[in-house]
Amino acid sequence: MQKDLVEHYPYYKSSQMKDIGLFGVDEVEIQGVKIKMDYTPCNSYGGKRAWFICPVCGKRIMKLFEIEKEDSITLGCRGCLNLTYRSTRMTLDRRASYKKAKRIVEISKLLNINRVDIERFRMWKIRKRKPKNIYIKTYQRLYQELKELVC
Ligand SMILES: [Zn+2]
Repeated sequence: MQKDLVEHYPYYKSSQMKDIGLFGVDEVEIQGVKIKMDYTPCNSYGGKRAWFICPVCGKRIMKLFEIEKEDSITLGCRGCLNLTYRSTRMTLDRRASYKKAKRIVEISKLLNINRVDIERFRMWKIRKRKPKNIYIKTYQRLYQELKELVC
C-alpha cells in the first residue's frame, strides 16, 4: 500500500500549545477531539517539554497529524495515520538505481562487454561487436537498452 506524504497534511506541534496558553493542561481539544497531554523534563533549561498522546496508539508524540476524509477528521501520529516522509521515498529511487546497475551487468555479460568497455561505450568509443551466440535482433535490442541505461 502506498503511503501518503506527511507534507500533504496539516499537523499540530505539541510545543505550540505553550504559545496558545495551554501549557501544563492534561488535555486539549483539537478539531473536537480530546487529546491527552504529557510533560517530561528537558535537561537543558530545566523546563518541561510538552507531548501529545496519540489518540490511536497512546505513544508520546510531538506532531499530531490531521486527515480529513468524507467530513470526518482523524487525528493521530504519523505511524497510525500511515504517513511517510519524502526521504523514505528516496530509498525507492535508490532501489531503482540498484536495479538499473544490475541490469547493466546482466546485459554486458550477455554482450560480452567488460567494465572498461562500458566506460568506452558511454563515451561512444566502442564498436558494435555481436557475440556469435546471440541473434542480431536480440543483440540490437540489448545494445539499445544498454545504451539507454549507461548514457
Ligand atoms: Zn499513534
